[in-house]
Amino acid sequence: MAVQAGQNGLLMVRNFIGGQFVDANSYLDSFDPSTGEVWAKVPDSGQAEVDAAVDAANKAFESHLSSTPCHVGHGGRWRIHTRVADIFESRLDEFAALESRDQGKPLWLASTVDMNRVVHNFRFFATYILHDVNRSRIQEPTGAVQYTVKEPVGVAGLISPWNLPLYLLSFKLAPALAAGNTVVAKPSELTSVTAYRMCEVFIKAGIPAGVVNMVFGLGAKAGASLVSHPQVPLISFTGGTVTAEKIRYTAAQHCKKFSLELGGKNAAVIFSDADLDKCIATTVRSSFLNQGEICLCTSRVYVQRDIYPTFVERFVKEVLKLKVGDPTDPDTFVGALISKEHLAKVLGAIRGAEQAGATIHSQVGDVTEQLPEHCQGGYFMYPSVITDVADDCAAMQEEIFGPVTCVVPFDTEDEVVARVNKVQYGLCGVVWSRDLSRAHRVSRRLQVGTVWVNCWLVRDLNMPFGGVKESGVGREGGHDSLEFYTHEKTICVHL
Ligand code: NAD
Repeated sequence: MAVQAGQNGLLMVRNFIGGQFVDANSYLDSFDPSTGEVWAKVPDSGQAEVDAAVDAANKAFESHLSSTPCHVGHGGRWRIHTRVADIFESRLDEFAALESRDQGKPLWLASTVDMNRVVHNFRFFATYILHDVNRSRIQEPTGAVQYTVKEPVGVAGLISPWNLPLYLLSFKLAPALAAGNTVVAKPSELTSVTAYRMCEVFIKAGIPAGVVNMVFGLGAKAGASLVSHPQVPLISFTGGTVTAEKIRYTAAQHCKKFSLELGGKNAAVIFSDADLDKCIATTVRSSFLNQGEICLCTSRVYVQRDIYPTFVERFVKEVLKLKVGDPTDPDTFVGALISKEHLAKVLGAIRGAEQAGATIHSQVGDVTEQLPEHCQGGYFMYPSVITDVADDCAAMQEEIFGPVTCVVPFDTEDEVVARVNKVQYGLCGVVWSRDLSRAHRVSRRLQVGTVWVNCWLVRDLNMPFGGVKESGVGREGGHDSLEFYTHEKTICVHL
């Protein structure tokens, strides 16, 4: 059994290397965001642990490739990964409870969104590899037949953030493993618990020892050691744009394949012919789901001037109704923020906008007054809407990553496109209009990786996902993930 209760009943996370759970020399405190109390201990790993994990992954890569081809019989990779999905699904409630406690998100959200998606990630990529085809071609003049084979890259280094911990890690693990790589994963030090418990699922599903390795700890230590390791030819990173600057520098120096999924400052553009009922309900969700701690959350709302006053009034009214509170309460919409430091940063961003002359709309009073006793030390805040804010204000330019969104008016299509594009990020956008020609036109002009029209967060894993500008490099999703986690080799045979 992997789980060990340590001192004072704390959950002890252990590294998973070469199929074994391994104790660490020192541990970091991991806080329950809804109480502010330490609830788990996470290994403070460094170079030595990363070296051991990469070594195990390298050894497994050699034998794993020959022992588990993707198509063959009961031991086929696709079948093992389908088993991962099945076993995980049978324990979904348990994982949802752990994720909610570790991250602060509402329990209903952890189970209906995060954990469902983990199941889907494994099932999707397990079966995807059965249908992926190689290319071939006969070149008439030279009488040569050419074909391609896709080969795994080797040991994949996977680094993931705290906002959707297992959801995002499994979006890397599932395709990396399906493609035949072995992996060393480094989840966020703030949310390591579900990744650790996932290792039990891998063992039970029959994933060979050394194929999946997890090293827990700080980014600057364990993460940096993984990125610079010479025997890790591929890095898949999801996290902040500032962190990515260091990663891309090191990865490029070592000529590694890398993919970066980074921050955003996503806009919703609402034209006056929009279906306002649907638009307001969806924009509340897109701004505040998961406490606004989703890279795809809306944080700038541009509303055409003739409907602006109505929109602000109705939108703010809905936001004021959102319940902040205990993540296990089914009525809670806004749970706890990830950490004390992050809460201070988000509140600081709101104060900064206010000092620059903006108006802040949120519930008044001390948020703790409406919290139950056991949540008094948690990292809670009221969701806030900022109006009367200039485009060049920090609140409109920088990612806040909390339950805060800015709402501003615009007049024309050309004007709003120019204003939306005038940020360093380019992750996603939303367009609201009943005029389909306009919706297509504006979608084409937005400098982002994904545009949703009259909806938000509708995802199909077959479609590419990723950002432009400072929001990242590369695409994840069906074909794109398998491209990333493989090398395509051309073989030319002269007949
Ligand atoms: P972060 O960049 O601080 O950390 C992400 C991961 O990188 C963590 O595991 C961390 O330990 C590790 N890390 C930190 N420094 C490192 C280093 N020098 N070398 C190697 N690894 C290092 O990000 P975060 O605060 O955990 O997550 C929030 C950010 O992630 C936000 O900016 C958000 O927009 C972004 N994000 C992007 C997407 C996307 O798909 N585009 C999805 C989710 C989150």
